Amino acid sequence: MTVLAHSAPKKGCSDAPVLKERGQHEVFCGLTGIIWLHRKMQDAFFLVVGSRTCAHLLQSAAGVMIFAEPRFGTAILEEQDLAGLADAHEELDREVAKLLSRRPDIRQVFLVGSCPSEVIKLDLARAAERLSEVHGPRVRVINYSGSGIETTFTQGEDACLAALVPQMPETEARELLIVGALPDVVEDQALSLLERLGVAPVRVLPARSADEMPGVGPNTVFALTQPFLGDTAAALARRGAHHLRASFPFGDMGTTAWLQAIADEFGVGADRFESVTAAPRARARAAIARQRERLAGKRVFFFPDSQLEIPLARFLTEECGMEAVEIGTPFLHRGLVGPDLERIAAGPRISEGQDVDLQLDRARMDRPDLSVCGLGLANPLEAEGLTTKWAIELVFTPVHFYEQAGDLAELFARPLRRRDLLETHPSRALRVEAAE
Ligand code: SF4
Repeated sequence: MTVLAHSAPKKGCSDAPVLKERGQHEVFCGLTGIIWLHRKMQDAFFLVVGSRTCAHLLQSAAGVMIFAEPRFGTAILEEQDLAGLADAHEELDREVAKLLSRRPDIRQVFLVGSCPSEVIKLDLARAAERLSEVHGPRVRVINYSGSGIETTFTQGEDACLAALVPQMPETEARELLIVGALPDVVEDQALSLLERLGVAPVRVLPARSADEMPGVGPNTVFALTQPFLGDTAAALARRGAHHLRASFPFGDMGTTAWLQAIADEFGVGADRFESVTAAPRARARAAIARQRERLAGKRVFFFPDSQLEIPLARFLTEECGMEAVEIGTPFLHRGLVGPDLERIAAGPRISEGQDVDLQLDRARMDRPDLSVCGLGLANPLEAEGLTTKWAIELVFTPVHFYEQAGDLAELFARPLRRRDLLETHPSRALRVEAAE
């Protein structure tokens, strides 16, 4: 049996100096998470209490649903609300009552705070409590903030899941809790692997419906699938649950290390681990190898955006042969990304937070082959001849576990392929771009 989690270099970038920056940053706000969260929680409604800008962001990011009843919306704060001339609480009560009378399928309502609701200090926690008394126990009303005053867009999911933790019933059962909103098909693959390893019972946060809400207690062991769930992990720990530290399940090696940590905790034998993982690992390795040719030896620069930067830099350097020049992350949460940091060979500059102008200067000096960045930076960098990858795509695309390993590598190979084509056959590159 090969246990890559244990054979990798142990120090890597763990002790690397960290460049800390607290300047202007360029990211989306936490409302963005509603796009994938509403798909995951099938009986939930996300009611943003915000401005027309918030409504436009959601509408343009999620597209307009013409045939389906949408499960997100915006209660728009008008000028009189912002000036304190109207009772926003009364209006909110009316809107929620109207929504629930029209939509009996809704079992959870999230009141999502925004910049405007925070600026006028609208107490959404009090509103959620009051509305839960009126509409509970059938409907649960919970609040969290998706405001752009937070630092980055993936904090929206973290805030949402952390708000769910106090709602989880107490349990003494020894259970594995998988934490993070994955596309159903990817989550099913993970559950199937765990079932074949003999790990049971396994619960998931967020659950697909209100009735499936998992319990939590001193015998709960949880594994995160996303590195941006720091507040959720802290909330679970406060309820007595134990966090399994591991590399995140990206690629062949990351997935194996993640599964190995669970297997060790639940006493899965080495033979069983090998027999369950051998075939999907081989498929993942072969799929990565097809992209590796284009990626190996190329230099990558991560601007801080999704908080996935460190696990992805681990994947690209360890499994795809890339060289990381700078790995920028909005927050460096060693308790969560420590195992990935250990596996990144020493060398790259590690930066936390952002001062966008200074960082752009460093990127211009480094001239990386690929810059992973937010949408706002991609076009200016492309105009300067730097090839880019939009970080937000990594959250919208299924990229976790063995079966997605090739797609994950391909996401990074695609812009390099386009650049090569542009340099050699500009007209063909445009056709490929249109097809993609
Ligand atoms: S929450 Fe703030 S940053 Fe996000 S769309 Fe609304 S106003 Fe803009």
